[in-house]
Amino acid sequence: MESDRWKWGAWLYWLIDVDDLVFDSLPRVIMYHSIGVENGYGNISTNEFQRHLRWLAQHTDVVDLPAVLDSPDAADKQVAVTFDDGLASFLWNAYPLIQKYQVPCTMFALGASIRSRSGTSNNQQLLERLETPDRLMSEDELNELTEDELVTVEAHTWTHPELPTLQDPELLHTEIVGAKRCLESALDVDIDRFAYPYNESSPEADELVSDTYEYAVLGGGRRSRITAATNPTAIPRIDGGVELERLTYNMADLSIHLRQRDVDAEAKPTPSL
Ligand SMILES: [Zn+2]
Repeated sequence: MESDRWKWGAWLYWLIDVDDLVFDSLPRVIMYHSIGVENGYGNISTNEFQRHLRWLAQHTDVVDLPAVLDSPDAADKQVAVTFDDGLASFLWNAYPLIQKYQVPCTMFALGASIRSRSGTSNNQQLLERLETPDRLMSEDELNELTEDELVTVEAHTWTHPELPTLQDPELLHTEIVGAKRCLESALDVDIDRFAYPYNESSPEADELVSDTYEYAVLGGGRRSRITAATNPTAIPRIDGGVELERLTYNMADLSIHLRQRDVDAEAKPTPSL
């Protein structure tokens, strides 16, 4: 259903330019992965990414992630930009545009990027994801990024596991707390933001994340509003790995409303006779 609906929404959006009606003043957080790498995970082309940034610069106030919670009812349409996985295509293709448009962003990197550590080899899904021309940034590359105040390097676990599958509390601790410590000591920065891999969580993981980090973001599946009541360690995001017309529709208040209605309808038990 939803896959067809966005086209009508996007068409209406562009036709009558009703952004003030369909995009309320509440903030949005966008999630990107690969940029400009064919077959890269969640990839969009470099040109498409530039279209996004140009549109965001014209229509929104792009802010650093915590700002969306500090003033969620600000008059400007605040948008925070985030990247997951710490992929090298950020450096090759996205970063020059981030600098050109002066867009602050958060880069959620893996402990596995740090040279002195290992740990990727036991995660088949991560290895499959990286069997593309894209790759993880190296420790040196991440270190370079920390020099630029536009980019905030933060944590996305150690090896990108499905957190609910980790039965061993020690493993969970390594993925959530260990990743923070590893990145902090290797990059000499404070890490207080976390992104859940695969948008998956568990009560144990949630507890550890909220004890360890000030902010945590979810994947692109939950398109709920960000308000003063939003839990800082469960901030919803919108997937940016799509063409601009679809992104603007996904960011619109209308689509968030419809999405929430679908979720509510699914949650309702089917009436029985
Ligand atoms: Zn990821």
